Amino acid sequence: MVDEKKEKSEAALLKEKLAAKKPGGALELDGEIIARADEFCEGYKAFMNTSKVEREAVTTTKKIAQEHGFEEYDINKTYKPGDKFYVINRGKNIGLVVVGKNGVKNGVKLVIAHIDSPRLDLKPNPLYESADLALFKTHYYGGIKKYQWTAIPLSLHGRIVRLDGEIIDVSVGDNDDEPCFCVSDLLPHLSREQSSQPVSKAFTGEDLNVLVGSRPFNKDKESEQVKLNILNLLFEKYGIVESDFLSAELDLVPAFKARDVGFDRSLIGAYGHDDKVCAYPGVMAAVNADTPESTCITFLCDKEEIGSDGNTGMQSAFLRDFIADLAQADGVEYRHVMAKSKCLSADVNAAFDPNYASAFEGNNASYLNGGVIITKYTGSGGKYDTSDASAEYMGYIRRMLHKNDILWQTGELGRVDLGGGGTIAKYIANLNVDVVDLGVPVLSMHAPFEIVSKVDVYMAYLAFEAFFKE
Ligand code: MN
Ligand code: MN
Repeated sequence: MVDEKKEKSEAALLKEKLAAKKPGGALELDGEIIARADEFCEGYKAFMNTSKVEREAVTTTKKIAQEHGFEEYDINKTYKPGDKFYVINRGKNIGLVVVGKNGVKNGVKLVIAHIDSPRLDLKPNPLYESADLALFKTHYYGGIKKYQWTAIPLSLHGRIVRLDGEIIDVSVGDNDDEPCFCVSDLLPHLSREQSSQPVSKAFTGEDLNVLVGSRPFNKDKESEQVKLNILNLLFEKYGIVESDFLSAELDLVPAFKARDVGFDRSLIGAYGHDDKVCAYPGVMAAVNADTPESTCITFLCDKEEIGSDGNTGMQSAFLRDFIADLAQADGVEYRHVMAKSKCLSADVNAAFDPNYASAFEGNNASYLNGGVIITKYTGSGGKYDTSDASAEYMGYIRRMLHKNDILWQTGELGRVDLGGGGTIAKYIANLNVDVVDLGVPVLSMHAPFEIVSKVDVYMAYLAFEAFFKE
């Protein structure tokens, strides 16, 4: 009898030794890890449902931090290794800090994610009446495909500051017993003209007007009775008058809750995975960190989707000034701390989409269930507008992921010259910090309902946990 087991050929052996292995994805994971991923994501879904906009994400994060023994930062307090505290900037950024054995002397470990997501913001004068309907004018925030935001239920979130200084927080439309809002769309029967136009022309920013009411206040012969009725309802509920919209930040976001997707429940659909799907694992890695070598900071920033400008965006001086305060407390120079610091810019990348395969280059795309994605560079038009991580830092991160058995992959944002995008990585790199993007692959990025894999979300958590521990 001949042994059926074939000896491996010379070429097969050499291939095994030299060629990069295609990651096997979640198939490589055992059931216990997948079960842990599923459990971790129950917490993530709960986080998502109370964190639709950045202020709410800060509030939710602060609550989680407090439950884990974090106290509010006090610049006059002397901190010792193992101490945990949080710092908040203008209600829109939060930093969770775990003091390391060496404090900040050998640099800090930063995980930075953003908690703003694309949406429709109200204009300063939003309310108007047309054809006996009351509507809000909006100005979209971040990169959206406008047609995706029509004919879906929307909820309203944000803050109004009245002329008397009173602050009113608004959240209406997410719960079944609350009304929601909607941008109407043209019926297909009458869309022949619209359908023949390029999408960018068929749906314009000024068309994204949100329906907010349709009944008149009373039978008096007064004009704009429907608008008046809405003003009256807003006055009754919030005590606001029309001009109070001028000092408000009100955002319309999809009214969906985070939900399992697929018969196997392996995926999660939700609004705003980009980038709360990295923020939440970063938060959990910080709250579970146990006296690391170097001080660890998970920082959640705002305004990423519109260029990171402003005092709550990553180009703000807030984080670096805060680290300068920590440096001063440890008796070291801020610039020396930054030079030794390491950062994971925790942001998403596009997962390969079989429906749009030609948008990707298969060898350098990331895949759902492939684990966390490292994006060495972002930008567009020939690596323009990116910090592009060094070979040394990529090597450091690879070693860390290998050592900790973390499922990971690399990827570019789509085919060369098809488009592009950026993250906060370059702003951190400009502070003389080593940084690379590491996050979760997303399907339908920036759509009202984005998709991620539970395994990938959990791998992001394990990666941040390992990064803090190293
Ligand atoms: Mn992002
Ligand atoms: Mn984005």
